[in-house]
Amino acid sequence: MSDQPFLELRDVTKRFPGHAAVQDLSLAVPRGQLLALLGPSGSGKTTTLRLLAGFERPDRGAVIVGGVDVTALPPAARHIGMVFQHYALFPHLSVGENVAFGIPRGPGRTARVRQLLALVDLAGFEHRRIDALSGGQQQRVALARALGPDPKLLLLDEPLSNLDPALRERTRRELRAALEAVGVTTVLVTHEQDEAFALGDVVAVLRDGRMEQFGSAPDLYERPVTHFVATFVGRAATVAGTLVAADRARVSDGVEWPVRVPQAVAPGRAVRVVVRPEALRLGGEGGIAGTVRARRYLGGRALFSVATPLGVLEVEGAVDAVEVGAEVHVTAVRAHAFPAED
Ligand code: ATP
Repeated sequence: MSDQPFLELRDVTKRFPGHAAVQDLSLAVPRGQLLALLGPSGSGKTTTLRLLAGFERPDRGAVIVGGVDVTALPPAARHIGMVFQHYALFPHLSVGENVAFGIPRGPGRTARVRQLLALVDLAGFEHRRIDALSGGQQQRVALARALGPDPKLLLLDEPLSNLDPALRERTRRELRAALEAVGVTTVLVTHEQDEAFALGDVVAVLRDGRMEQFGSAPDLYERPVTHFVATFVGRAATVAGTLVAADRARVSDGVEWPVRVPQAVAPGRAVRVVVRPEALRLGGEGGIAGTVRARRYLGGRALFSVATPLGVLEVEGAVDAVEVGAEVHVTAVRAHAFPAED
């Protein structure tokens, strides 16, 4: 039973007049895992979340939760907890009253509120007013409220997007710890790769209503299957090239880079070569000649912008590797090649 998926979308399509917001979407998530739906604006993330919640009905396909087909069930019958971007807390109720909202009245209610507030690190906040809390604390109250009824599935719609970057990172860690403690299967919508990677056990990358790739963070980062995923996930430059062998692409006269080729491409064909800053090296000779235009500090390392005939390449290196203005050569230790069109 445990290796059965807990949440499944089977070939789900949702059309709005004139276009499909979600098309032929199939995925499966084991119990207790967090799925991040990652994609740019308009890619179908929110529509997928609304299909899971029951606010939308698919035109085709099925939504399965815990082995039960819930496709035709209304939201209230699905036992789903939701946290929205704007938290949607009740401002006139206290923290404790907000959290108690979804918990049936009875002798255990107060204890359950205390337990949930402890879980989100807000023990002792029962009587606080909502407007006397920071954004991060409000987010945690919203999480505690959503967990109150012990939902089968938790849905989080860009839950950290209202927080400033420093608070966001801390709240992310707290959110992750609380969700791990509860073990509830969760779906998170985000357009930020950092967030998807920090929180998701698995990540689905959506584009124009279709899923481009489904996998763990290392899968997506190191083994992207499309040019879209390779460039949407992480920093990357794309240069034009020609595949000259199963694992080599020529990017300039006499310069070949080692490449992974995830889609079928015949040698001799034009390709788009994607390379990340940490896979490029600065050297005195060989490779592509260029001029260092800028240096940006990344903690203990630096990102050098090098103007080359292929365009500007960002190269990660030791902070003191070269000075701005230096003439250098850039070589690649690994890259990804995709068909010129996809
Ligand atoms: P964002 O990050 O901007 O919220 P998203 O990835 O969540 O985007 P959706 O909101 O799911 O994307 O929208 C997917 C597509 O469906 C978009 O083209 C959007 O305009 C369209 N769409 C969404 N809801 C409706 C609706 N109720 N009626 C018509 N079109 C809709």
